[in-house]
Amino acid sequence: MAGDMTKKQAQDLSKKLMRKSKLVWDELTKADRNKAMKFGDEYKTFLDNSKTERRAVATVEQLARKTGFFPVDEAGENGLVFRTWKNKCIALARLGVRPVTEGVHIVASHVDSPRLDLKANPLYEETDMAFFKTHYYGGVRKHQWFARPLALHGVAVDKDGKSIDIRLGEDPGDPVFTVLDLLPHLARKIQAGKTLAIAFEGEKLNILLGSLPLGPEKTPDRFKLMAMNLLHEKYGLVEEDFLTAEIEAVPAGQARDVGLDRSLIGAYGQDDRVCSYCAVRALLDAKSKPEFTSVVFLADKEEIGSEGNTGAKSRFLESFISDLLKLAGQGASSRDLTATLMASKGLSGDVAPALDPDYQSVHEKNNAAKLGYGMCMTKYTGSAGKSGASDANAEHLGYVRGIFEANKIVWQIGQLGKVDEGGGGTIAKFLATHGMDVVDCGPAILGMHSPFEIASKADIFMAYKAYGAFLQGR
Ligand code: MN
Ligand code: MN
Repeated sequence: MAGDMTKKQAQDLSKKLMRKSKLVWDELTKADRNKAMKFGDEYKTFLDNSKTERRAVATVEQLARKTGFFPVDEAGENGLVFRTWKNKCIALARLGVRPVTEGVHIVASHVDSPRLDLKANPLYEETDMAFFKTHYYGGVRKHQWFARPLALHGVAVDKDGKSIDIRLGEDPGDPVFTVLDLLPHLARKIQAGKTLAIAFEGEKLNILLGSLPLGPEKTPDRFKLMAMNLLHEKYGLVEEDFLTAEIEAVPAGQARDVGLDRSLIGAYGQDDRVCSYCAVRALLDAKSKPEFTSVVFLADKEEIGSEGNTGAKSRFLESFISDLLKLAGQGASSRDLTATLMASKGLSGDVAPALDPDYQSVHEKNNAAKLGYGMCMTKYTGSAGKSGASDANAEHLGYVRGIFEANKIVWQIGQLGKVDEGGGGTIAKFLATHGMDVVDCGPAILGMHSPFEIASKADIFMAYKAYGAFLQGR
């Protein structure tokens, strides 16, 4: 009863019973703050080298090899292995003390990000300029892609089957590309009166390639010819090579510190190269053999539903776990594989939406993640009545919580906006299909899916620590 308690007693009781969220910066020692800042710098370098899923996989492979990891089919004695798949997926493992068949601890994330893909027949000219037609990939807010510098990355396979690597618009001496936007003076009828959903059309996301004609006035398609000729000189490309290519337009430029205090990082593609990098670094930096075998799996195609042979719905993860069973000499029957997967525990590394200061109404404050408040655990995503969510088990949440508490991880919970506000999904449900327990865990970011996403260096550092603790086991 209220009257039975002194103010001091009530305060003590509140301290004992009530949950208080913690700002990571308040919890870090000065030395850890410096570590968080340094980790942020290393992460920015990773982002700059990993603008596409292919580049991210190549960068991760390089880091892994440097740390003593071997391709799984030529594994050394150290139990550190990796396997890439179609140049777009990678899985890495550190064999544990216990048999693989007792289950692995896996952190899975994705390395693809929203972008503009070139169409199969992209090149055309219009009003004396050359352009590429594009088809957007993933959940883009189309208006964000107009009037900004873009770079091109990708692969074209020529008629002899040779892969040509394309990278243009990132180096200081490179030209960049752009999608033209309409001037405000003339946008009144055609755009300003429309809703955002229809004001910016996908078919207008065309990339400007130049305006210098090749040949005299009568030359047919001489602007198109200029573009093709320059691409031929640089890469040996002919127009037909576009039919067998995957070329992506992404925001040009480097990841940057944001804010007077440099506490934030602004960059394209942090969803989900932030979880990918933190998980990989956690695995590579582990100081001792983990209790359970540690696995990091980085998938492609999350942003379009995890489809295809490089998405999380593919058989790649199962195949990699089979490799591990074989490597450890611990059974290789399909029953062993199923049992291993079912005994495994996972974190789905995916970013959470941070409470947006200007659009707080789309969040429900008691359950929204906040920037700077650490690792965000999201029990379920989906939309409407949790439709499409894997909805993690309380026992797994408790298990992960125990690891976080034991390792002083600053963490919070989050939810993808208010009920019925919108929705989305992650790869959690595709991991859960294997029978393992899994929950979404990642830093909260602002401006998710924009060309310049914002993350806190404190949260990034916590993600690194949290994945490390989980992979290492309790
Ligand atoms: Mn996403
Ligand atoms: Mn993501």
